[in-house]
Amino acid sequence: METKVDSTFIRRAVEVADLNAVRVALYQQTGDPELAELPTAANLDETQRELLVTKAVAWLEHNAGPVRVAEPEEDELRTLMNMATAEEMGDVEFEARRDLPAFKEFPWTAEWTDAKPQLPEGFKVAIVGSGFSGLAMGVQLERLGIPYVLLERRGEPGGTWTINRYPDVRVDTISITYEFSFEKDYQWNEYFGRGAEVRSYLDHISRKYGVFDHTLFNRDLKRATFDEGRNVWSLESETPEGPETIEANVIVTAVGTFANPRFPHFEGQESFEGPILHPTGWSPDIDLSGQRVAIIGNGSTGVQLLAPIAEEAEQVFVFQRTPQWISPRDKYGAPIEPELHWLVENFPGYWNWARYMAIAALFQTHRFLVPDEEWKAQGGKFNPLNDKMRDDLTAYIKAQTGGRQDLIDKLIPDYAPFSRRPVVDNGWYKALTRDNVELVTDPITRFTPKGIETQDGTLYDVDAIVTATGFEVIKYLWPTEYTGKDGVSIHDFWSKDGPRAYLGMMTPNFPNMFMIYGPNSQPVSGGTGLPIWYVIWSAYSAQCIVRMLEEGRSRVEVKEEAYERYNKALDAEAAKLILLQDEGAPDKNYYVNEFGRLQVNAPWYGPDYHRMCTQVDWDDIEIS
Ligand code: NAP
Repeated sequence: METKVDSTFIRRAVEVADLNAVRVALYQQTGDPELAELPTAANLDETQRELLVTKAVAWLEHNAGPVRVAEPEEDELRTLMNMATAEEMGDVEFEARRDLPAFKEFPWTAEWTDAKPQLPEGFKVAIVGSGFSGLAMGVQLERLGIPYVLLERRGEPGGTWTINRYPDVRVDTISITYEFSFEKDYQWNEYFGRGAEVRSYLDHISRKYGVFDHTLFNRDLKRATFDEGRNVWSLESETPEGPETIEANVIVTAVGTFANPRFPHFEGQESFEGPILHPTGWSPDIDLSGQRVAIIGNGSTGVQLLAPIAEEAEQVFVFQRTPQWISPRDKYGAPIEPELHWLVENFPGYWNWARYMAIAALFQTHRFLVPDEEWKAQGGKFNPLNDKMRDDLTAYIKAQTGGRQDLIDKLIPDYAPFSRRPVVDNGWYKALTRDNVELVTDPITRFTPKGIETQDGTLYDVDAIVTATGFEVIKYLWPTEYTGKDGVSIHDFWSKDGPRAYLGMMTPNFPNMFMIYGPNSQPVSGGTGLPIWYVIWSAYSAQCIVRMLEEGRSRVEVKEEAYERYNKALDAEAAKLILLQDEGAPDKNYYVNEFGRLQVNAPWYGPDYHRMCTQVDWDDIEIS
């Protein structure tokens, strides 16, 4: 059906839009000083709001069109950014934020210093994994014209999004922050894209940017061995046709943190007569309608899948070991309005500033993670912001459960928010109030042929058990065997206190090897705009490869001293954060490994880590 774009339609479009982005995009187009004087959207009064909407509608009536805005000069960009959030920022912040609006065609991309040099005969990079990270790396190499292959275990691109197909799986950060900045104006169907939509997006990226044609599907990498004499990696994969070995000069692992599901081991598990379903093994023919179902786990996965299962099952028992702080998101589950789609296409600069606003907000996370000792001395729990979040979420639990004290008592965590990975509510609390749902907090003792028995002796009779029990995050790069210099195995190298890396990307003894989304790389602040980080890490890796090739060398590695120094500083920084402190939940957090150290996250303030990863410190790198 043809959409009639008249002033009523345009007004509706502006009214559902992010008004901060509307204001800045309009100011960028018009320079209207009245716009500069308006406060940010949250602080607009009715008259100011109406003024902004009217100005935007009037401008769009005459000027709307699919025009891309050129990147503003640095001073103008800074002014616009300050206007967007009503904050001044320092140079490190500006560096980290300047490409968030993605005016450049390929922000954060590695380039040759001059013309591309002659590459050594047969030079090749191997990327492992075709999820977000592997695709980001493929796009870098494609642009640089460096030959590469991508080994993918499965039959399609998409990584974790091809594996997780359980009911209601979707992104829990707004999609405009969960997309590549080089793919402009992608039209998502929902504000928080469903799993299938993310899969289509990644397939689209893989094909559009040429990575698909370099991908060897159904290659499950079993062994990677570095040949010191020749500075090449030998890569042995299992394929449907049998084992296959290829060689590559450089290997880039992009295998994700959530590659290995965690299957629980309960006494009597084998005796259970029904299916035990891990969400990573979900298939479309699973039908739980009219069934009695147990769900173990209330992390992001367990919380996403309860409501749709409860809709169709006869009875659901939710087994909660530890309460979580579960928070709502505006527009979660909502379709993007046709008016907004039109606006994104026809309001030059709107998409850029909507992106900026959504991602810049994530940079605030750090403030929730650092204690305020003075505040604590005065009786506060952690810091004012974190305590306020705790109060708000407590009120949310009470409201969602309709004040049911029996539930509230079980649901309020005794640790601070942001101690663990935030979980987003998909109607989980509400579902607990349904007549056919029961929350069980008594610990599980065993599985029986008919169900689950808890410590108090109750037997929960069920037909199927869903184990939303997470992933073996500690087993990074596992079970593939990586053998570096002097026959060192990566898993032995990391056996002292778990996986570590320099900047999350490089490890001594493993030359010509980079990890995207490696150990200690997920930023705890600015972390949820992960696709940007995939591009940053792949650009860093590409820069190292570029330099090696420009110098006519064949080997690049991190110096051992730099790796040790970096990790010492990282541990000290991590200790300052709630994740490792008493008010947090270090013993109940997959971010923290069994040795008590933070393993998943980069503890740095986001902009500082951004600088480390975008300005290579060549003194730390050895090229030979
Ligand atoms: P998770 O956060 O590790 O949660 C696992 C759950 O299982 C926890 O509630 C845990 O309880 C429970 N559990 C584990 N072993 C158990 C046992 N033996 N007995 C009883 N309970 C047990 O795993 P997840 O929910 O799969 O999420 C992992 C990560 O994947 C997320 O943090 C997120 O980064 C990502 N994810 C993202 C999305 C999204 O963006 N849409 C969706 C899903 C997942 P305890 O709390 O007591 O350990």
